[in-house]
Amino acid sequence: ATTGRTLTVRGLTVHYGGVCAVRDLGFEVPAGDAIGVIGANGAGKTSALKAIMGLVPRRVGALRFGDVDLSGVAARDMVRHGIGYVPEGRHVFAGLPVDKNLLLGAYARKWNAETRATLDQVYELFPVLGEMRGRLAGALSGGQQQMLAIGRALMSRPRLLLLDEPSMGLSPKLVEDILAVLLRLRAEGLSLLLVEQNAKLTFEATSSCLVVENGEVAMTGTSERLRHDPRVRRIYLGL
Ligand code: ATP
Repeated sequence: ATTGRTLTVRGLTVHYGGVCAVRDLGFEVPAGDAIGVIGANGAGKTSALKAIMGLVPRRVGALRFGDVDLSGVAARDMVRHGIGYVPEGRHVFAGLPVDKNLLLGAYARKWNAETRATLDQVYELFPVLGEMRGRLAGALSGGQQQMLAIGRALMSRPRLLLLDEPSMGLSPKLVEDILAVLLRLRAEGLSLLLVEQNAKLTFEATSSCLVVENGEVAMTGTSERLRHDPRVRRIYLGL
């Protein structure tokens, strides 16, 4: 296990039949950094993340994690390369208890003292999950399910976490909770790629961002610069 891997994406393109959802996207997530992708509904953000994961057919010029070529790696094997994924809409196993949901996130690992320690870390990060460990995931609130989806992804001990709209459908208070979690993960050295419609959250959680429009990069810059950009303020922050 090595630390310090950069995700490199070059020339990422996704077609659904005749529809081009992502066109020639390129960016990097440096080791330990947090990068955001903001865009309107339908801009192609989810397709880009799914394509990185291998969940939809993709074309890439290059897809690397450190010096590992991911361009031929199937979605189920991404976790072994240190990449965790929190899908849009959470997709927890509603009929299973919280602790079983978390253990499923460690499916690629042996159950041992290290897995137990990871589970304890997840309960420490999300105390509510520890309190509700025996409850069915389907009985949790939307915010708790989002925490569970993040916790489940952390069970594989990823070096890079891909998050698809973790703030979706959450109250402003819960969005603040998500922000706090993202900042803490970042402080612990985890790399983050955060896809969001919530530009305010994204600018606070990341160091730089891509703005995606119609499947293409429309703007890039540091989050600090973009949050003050007049066009970004008007279109994405509603100011
Ligand atoms: P959202 O906010 O809904 O997550 P998004 O920015 O993630 O939006 P995508 O879901 O990636 O956007 O969709 C990008 C484009 O691709 C849209 O025009 C969408 O209609 C289209 N699209 C997405 N999935 C499919 C599919 N399975 N088949 C055909 N077209 C699709």
